[in-house]
Amino acid sequence: HVKAHGKHDVQLFSPDLDAHRRARQGLECALRGALDRNEVSLRYQPLCDLAGKVVGAEALMRWKHLELGEVSPERFIPVAEDLGLIVPFGEWVLREACRQAAEWRLQGLTLRIAVNVSPAQLACADFPDQVWAALARAQLPAEALELEITERLVVQDGAQTAGVLETLGRQGVRIVIDDFGVGHSALAYLLRLPITGLKIDRSFVQQLQGRGNSEQGTERVVQAVTSLAHSLGLSVVAEGIETVSQRQRVHDLGCDYLQGYLLAPPLTPSDFESWWRAHEVQRQREQNAGQSAH
Ligand code: C2E
Ligand code: MG
Ligand code: MG
Ligand code: MG
Repeated sequence: HVKAHGKHDVQLFSPDLDAHRRARQGLECALRGALDRNEVSLRYQPLCDLAGKVVGAEALMRWKHLELGEVSPERFIPVAEDLGLIVPFGEWVLREACRQAAEWRLQGLTLRIAVNVSPAQLACADFPDQVWAALARAQLPAEALELEITERLVVQDGAQTAGVLETLGRQGVRIVIDDFGVGHSALAYLLRLPITGLKIDRSFVQQLQGRGNSEQGTERVVQAVTSLAHSLGLSVVAEGIETVSQRQRVHDLGCDYLQGYLLAPPLTPSDFESWWRAHEVQRQREQNAGQSAH
């Protein structure tokens, strides 16, 4: 419907775009005050080894706004990145996750805490200082912290990021490539940077069932990535395990650690503690049953 409403009425052609823009502005505005209003919290999703032992937890950000309700990180993190808010948000996540991990340690729940890091954070020259401060404040050893960074980042921005990663690696912090396999395939950085592990993207894991050609292709990819990683001394996490058969496949294909809804979804700190205790009891029971069977 092309009507003559004056030359500035461009949005008349696409009312959706206008609604979209307004929603985005609302989101931006709400997001700016989110930290100050204590609307941001963390959930923790366990990572287990092949024997089922809990070895780590990934901290995942949640944002609940009074009017907007729960906003998914898939939606608000890109906005926070655009607005430069991810730097203060990320620093808060780092501090809170380290604090929580230290508290769990005192309770005898020792694990590695994984924190997602955005490109903009690694572009800050003082990022290693932020990490160091968070560790020192919580009195947590550097080895207890794992930073998850994306492939996109390491491939894009060479020198600056490499320098920051170098410093972090020297400090003893573990660095993992998240969502491995969906981005660029410039593998040289695996040798060049102090990477300690890979997380194979969920999209691969979810193609592991069935016997079709594409599933067989995916199996080969996962197997190849795993053996490449192992030959470089890197550990491999399979993320997004939802079914018993997926767990069996990644187990057979040689992945070291598992994460996914099959084990547990991201949990509040207190739910995580109860889940952990119940999981450990169950595991001990199975272990004892296995021993007495022999
Ligand atoms: P990610 O780091 O790859 O985290 C894994 C995502 O997959 C999480 O989504 C998790 O809830 C979800 N997930 C875990 N297991 C399963 C499963 O078995 N099936 C399915 N379908 N999904 C599963 P979430 O929490 O919505 O986070 C989405 C993304 O947002 C994260 O992807 C990460 O890239 C980003 N993110 C979350 N928290 C932070 C943060 O504190 N800082 C930064 N920079 N990014 C974050
Ligand atoms: Mg992650
Ligand atoms: Mg991931
Ligand atoms: Mg992913």
